[in-house]
Amino acid sequence: MCKPQNSNGTSSSEIVRDIPLACSNELAAVEFFEKRRWADTPCCPRCGDVEVYKMTDRQTGERNKRFLWRCKGCKQQFTVRIGTVLEDSRVPFRHWAMTFWLACSSKKGVSAKQIERMTGLSYKSALFLLHRVRFAMAPANANDGGKLDGTVEIDETYIGGKPRYRSSRNKRGPAGKQPVVGMVERDGRVRARVAPDVTAATLKAAVREHVEKSANLMTDEHASYKGLHTEFASHQFVAHARREYVRGDVSTNAIESFWAVLKRGIYGTYHNVSRKHLQRYLDEFEFRYNTRKMDDGERTAAAIDGAVGKRLAYSDNV
Ligand SMILES: [Zn+2]
Repeated sequence: MCKPQNSNGTSSSEIVRDIPLACSNELAAVEFFEKRRWADTPCCPRCGDVEVYKMTDRQTGERNKRFLWRCKGCKQQFTVRIGTVLEDSRVPFRHWAMTFWLACSSKKGVSAKQIERMTGLSYKSALFLLHRVRFAMAPANANDGGKLDGTVEIDETYIGGKPRYRSSRNKRGPAGKQPVVGMVERDGRVRARVAPDVTAATLKAAVREHVEKSANLMTDEHASYKGLHTEFASHQFVAHARREYVRGDVSTNAIESFWAVLKRGIYGTYHNVSRKHLQRYLDEFEFRYNTRKMDDGERTAAAIDGAVGKRLAYSDNV
């Protein structure tokens, strides 16, 4: 049977060493993805059998042009794309390698225009790749790694639409803008989720879903957060309306910094984002924030590992 995924996969220094070749040579790219997924024990993604072999071209004896494997167990053919976000795609592996690498090594993300220029793919294909890479970065489950705990800052913001100034708060927020709620542990993990509105019911439901009851909450004075102290260990707030941003240990500076990077990325790199796709972009920035202590190689490895076990229907994607 298949070993647990990545039990002895490539190390981050090997990734840094191997990736330039994988971005330019198709065979190197395929072997890069195979090694990352299977290490030294390739196995059938359909039945789990390890009695598998590389198919070869009868005339040349070289590896099959489609990089197919055959499984002795279920007698089926497969490639390393099966059961990952790469499935159902004909985009060459080297372009996938480059997209994963660029998306994981640039702070503000990489645009489809840049992928288009660097790979020669169409703009549409570049968008397609980036959406799937974002999907690989997204948590597989809503509460992957457990709820947030310790000191947790909570804040809401608005993304997209015009104009860009932040007008007075009302239930729906400024016209055309999409509310987003963010929660971050001091020196820890962040969660950012698209919200239908910023009512007390919506914001509190998000906090209950993502934060442990033992956490100490910090917010601004937004009325929707009132009453949280009865459910969590504590709740303190700063009064932004009175220009109070820090009071002793109380602030929402960590989540504000996350919003700043997110907005620089969305407005600078992506030049705005549709409502439909906003959560995917939030997933991307959340992933980079949560892997900020890793080097670029480790982060790329983490994203590629996240590609396994996920598939995205083409209709969801474009
Ligand atoms: Zn099989």
